[in-house]
Amino acid sequence: MSLGEFEIIGRYFARQGAHHPDVLLGVGDDAAVLDVRAGCKLVVAMDTIVADVHFPAGTDPADIGYRAVAVNLSDLAAMGAMPAWMTLSLSLPQADERWLEGFASGLYELADRYAVALVGGDTVRGPLVLTVQIAGWVEADRWLTRAGARPGDLLMVSGVPGEAAGGLALLQQQRTHDAAAQHLLQRFRRPEPRIELGRGLRPYASAAMDVSDGLLTDLRKLCEASGCAAQLDLDALPVSPALQASFSPQAALEYALAGGDDYELLFAVPARHVPALRAAGLQPSLTQIGVITGGSGVRCLRAGRVYEPGDAGYDHFASAPGQAPGQEGRA
Ligand code: ADP
Ligand code: MG
Repeated sequence: MSLGEFEIIGRYFARQGAHHPDVLLGVGDDAAVLDVRAGCKLVVAMDTIVADVHFPAGTDPADIGYRAVAVNLSDLAAMGAMPAWMTLSLSLPQADERWLEGFASGLYELADRYAVALVGGDTVRGPLVLTVQIAGWVEADRWLTRAGARPGDLLMVSGVPGEAAGGLALLQQQRTHDAAAQHLLQRFRRPEPRIELGRGLRPYASAAMDVSDGLLTDLRKLCEASGCAAQLDLDALPVSPALQASFSPQAALEYALAGGDDYELLFAVPARHVPALRAAGLQPSLTQIGVITGGSGVRCLRAGRVYEPGDAGYDHFASAPGQAPGQEGRA
């Protein structure tokens, strides 16, 4: 490496970012020391992103830095937690200053937006692998999990699932010129973690998770964790004009069902909480896409009939036909 390990840290990652009185000791010592809020629980998550698995080789380094933070923030959003601190493990094939500059700018852009302080990490030479661990807090009286959904709850999703996967497909097909494609591409490049929504859902949702591997796959996980089933109404899925402009109706449906990378929130709400949830005016738009039922598994309905979706969702260790390298998924 032309730059040494300590020069890399000092030059690009010594800045804590957001000012945090609760960081008693940050980058530079053997470990960070953090002041955890009284009356709150500590919430911790980690996500690793790997070149050619989670992003195509040649991706703008600023987008990679942004993504490394975004996928972690999304996990905290799903818990209803407030992010506060993160650590960063960097495995780099070489110390490319232009790359590091871009990566750090994307990373701090999103970290600063959510006032997350970078408090430590590790830097090694190896294949391009980036791990962020994020920690935050949630009020001790209530946090969200995947496990609380009950039969009769309404099933809802935020935003428009499928757009990010459509953006990745267009990128791979080099069809990125029109406005619809640009919209989809932006959704892939810069997913919006739904922190405010997760915080706002705490009083209402019985279960929640973020959609990273695809709506159908993730819904199955939520059902399994909650010990119930779901009926998914495909005709109720949010419509994406950009997906419709770029793909056949069937392909657009498949992206909505199986595409990863959206980082929207999927959640269940007891019917009695729906008026208050609607009145809370949470952003982005929330759509009811089905109901939680008894039993197990997910049943899809289309035009009143049972619909059998193809293989959906991403699993790092399954062979997944039809999924190009670069298709997102989280371990
Ligand atoms: P140690 O050898 O004691 O584990 P290091 O020499 O690896 O410590 O790291 C020195 C300091 O720099 C530590 O505070 C560590 O948390 C921080 N650090 C190392 N790599 C990164 C990174 N990529 N981002 C932020 N902080 C880092
Ligand atoms: Mg040490």
